Amino acid sequence: MSDGMVPTSVRVVRSVDEHREVVRVLLAPLAARLGADELAVSAERMSRHPHDYDGRVLAADVTAPIDLPPFDNSQMDGYAVASDDLMDASGERPVALRVAAHIPAGSTGRPLERGWAAPIMTGAPIPDGADAVVPIEQVDPPRFFPDADVSQHAVAPPVARFTRPVAPGTYRRARGSDIAAGSLLLAVGTRLGAAQWGVLAASGVATVPVRRRVRVTVLSTGHELRQPGDELGPGQIFDANSAALTRALAEVGADVRTVAAVSDDPEAFSRQLAALGAETDLLVTTGGVSAGAYEVVRETLAGAGVDFVGVRMQPGGPQGSGALRDTGMPVVTFPGNPVSALISFEVFLRPVLLELAGARASDRQRLRVTLAEDATSPVEKHQIRRGRLREDGRVELIGGPGSHLLHAYAASALLVHIPAGVASVTAGDTLDAWRIDD
Ligand code: AMP
Ligand code: MG
Repeated sequence: MSDGMVPTSVRVVRSVDEHREVVRVLLAPLAARLGADELAVSAERMSRHPHDYDGRVLAADVTAPIDLPPFDNSQMDGYAVASDDLMDASGERPVALRVAAHIPAGSTGRPLERGWAAPIMTGAPIPDGADAVVPIEQVDPPRFFPDADVSQHAVAPPVARFTRPVAPGTYRRARGSDIAAGSLLLAVGTRLGAAQWGVLAASGVATVPVRRRVRVTVLSTGHELRQPGDELGPGQIFDANSAALTRALAEVGADVRTVAAVSDDPEAFSRQLAALGAETDLLVTTGGVSAGAYEVVRETLAGAGVDFVGVRMQPGGPQGSGALRDTGMPVVTFPGNPVSALISFEVFLRPVLLELAGARASDRQRLRVTLAEDATSPVEKHQIRRGRLREDGRVELIGGPGSHLLHAYAASALLVHIPAGVASVTAGDTLDAWRIDD
């Protein structure tokens, strides 16, 4: 029905950038509601609640509480020496040093006296009096003496011979050489991945403030939808969008609280809407927004604060967005075809959600790629195709432009952009692409 009620001539048509901007403005007020959560830097807790740590973004700067490394330590298994002792060492006139007690990682050695060398293991503190490490392979003999033979009190300690001088600082990992106490360890807006959690732990930071997640409800509409595990009746299909969007949202740190597939019955849809409490920061729907009959999302929400527009994009042309008049809840509506729904997410929601989460390096990696084949595109639309890099460095398109080709999408690593105004491209042309496989 709906399209018939709005003459095509006055139907709002937007560019991709314009619609993304509309979504950004719609969701901007959420930023004020997203405070910070404190999250423990605890491997044990991470292993019990892995999802708590997915896609998190720092809500404040974190200052380094200690130097890293915390003390001068050895980069090699070898001998800690005073470089002055080896000044005159050569192949013809090796310098013999008495061998002191072992210094394993985790213990501190005694101060080194001149004329002595201390067997030191990687990561062990360099003792006072030593300023360099000579790797064990460069010493004669090129192996450590048994611990028992080198106690500090040995009457006749063994000797190790050195055949060349060593520069002060050799194989010494200086205290604070990675980061100094008091400097900025991680800045507000940093997305916390493995290395970031690692350096927080290395610094002994026990908790960090992270942005609270945006709580999202995903409603997939369609009378034909069944869940995996159900029996498919005639004309029915499995619901792909609920799963795909739930994961896509989680990957950018959103918290999908409710996910439901509802029929095209406006009353059932309205009941679902009414059941959403203040727990939901954002409602995302799929399906029911095109020009057919049974367009439940459009029929129910068009008079309730949501604007339905055409975006000059393929796939993903029919879009809707707005705040529900009675509750103020922001709603973004995607078309039902699974490729349209996912691409709509990539283009309109993902960058906005990442920005909201305060992430600084937010967007998909953008590449300039060379096409391996020819393709056509509706000239008035920005077309987004799926592709993958071939061994020769060129990009092949996977599947056609059809928005039902979800398996082809799943085999792709790139979204390839053919801008509006271009009707055809040929092999060898260069285009913008986004990496979707990282
Ligand atoms: P609609 O936007 O509701 O007109 O749906 C467009 C096409 O996408 C139809 O072929 C639907 O069956 C299909 N579709 C809608 N929702 C889903 C879904 N959640 N999972 C898989 N296919 C869907
Ligand atoms: Mg439908």
